[in-house]
Amino acid sequence: MPPYPIGILGGTFDPIHYGHLRPALDLLEELELAEIRFIPCRIPAHRGTPLITAEQRLALVQLATDGQPGFVTDDRELRRDGLSYMFDTLASLREDSGDEMPLCLILGTDAFRELHTWHRWQELPGLAHIVVMQRPGLLKPLIPVLEAFTTPRVVYDRFALRRKPAGGILFQPVTQLNISATQIRALLARGQSPRYLLPEVVLASIHTQSLYR
Ligand code: ATP
Repeated sequence: MPPYPIGILGGTFDPIHYGHLRPALDLLEELELAEIRFIPCRIPAHRGTPLITAEQRLALVQLATDGQPGFVTDDRELRRDGLSYMFDTLASLREDSGDEMPLCLILGTDAFRELHTWHRWQELPGLAHIVVMQRPGLLKPLIPVLEAFTTPRVVYDRFALRRKPAGGILFQPVTQLNISATQIRALLARGQSPRYLLPEVVLASIHTQSLYR
């Protein structure tokens, strides 16, 4: 029997919130993943500088995922110089896990729609499957180049992810939580509370360290 796939959830995590965590748990269980690796980027390639350091974002991810079986915090992007490209991250995970292990790059719908702007994006299916978790409010058609890339690769169930180590694209419904890190940062900047949008332990640490003021 082929091995259970490893899920890879990269992000800025500025900060991590329930919009990352609950859909990730949906995928872990629905797709029978061996684990999900939360990989905070050091320097994001597609956005401005995060408000807190990569080490601080990583520590919050660690707090949020601690104690959930199957959730793993992975610091490999912090150990690499330069911009944090997912291509390099997947290449290093592929090197660690060998040629047979199915890898699943997990993306929100919004991130997937921008995939054609990523470094070496057309080579990503050579390294991993792509699992798109549906995010509320983004149902516009894909741009033609991404549509042409996606259509021949679409797969429909978790078994397809186990049959091959890479190359499929699965659209997977997840719990719809319209939560963003942007919203949380804005609330904190205004002195309002983001409580119930992210784990209590993460919020406590944000307050203790006076982050996002
Ligand atoms: P920001 O508001 O700062 O842009 P974000 O909340 O989108 O941040 P990221 O760290 O950029 O968080 O997201 C990491 C990954 O998680 C991306 O693939 C993104 O699409 C996905 N994601 C973020 N929020 C949600 C959500 N509420 N539901 C499903 N996926 C999400």
